Amino acid sequence: MLKKDLEMLVALQDLDLMIEEADDVEKLGFNITGCSELKNARDELAGRLSKSLLFRYERLRSKLKRAIVPVKNDICLGCFLRQPTSIGTKGREDDEIFTCENCGRMLYWID
Ligand SMILES: [Zn+2]
Repeated sequence: MLKKDLEMLVALQDLDLMIEEADDVEKLGFNITGCSELKNARDELAGRLSKSLLFRYERLRSKLKRAIVPVKNDICLGCFLRQPTSIGTKGREDDEIFTCENCGRMLYWID
């Protein structure tokens, strides 16, 4: 997988989390300006991702708040399980997206 796809997925998730928060605040009766712009940006970004990747992301997001999480010092920051070093080496270099064997989230390495 291209690193660009990974960046887009992370950005998509950031937008989704912001939209969720805005929706929660709106439910309390507050008016959020810019929420529709957020949703437009989200749709535009989702349209640039491959269908299979988007599907994988959406499926995880239906179960988990975060579908894609960073790995720092070989620890998955979704479930705090240590990842095998061999995966870490591949995950930093390969084009493929790796998933945490414990929690199933997609991983990206930040260290
Ligand atoms: Zn995990």
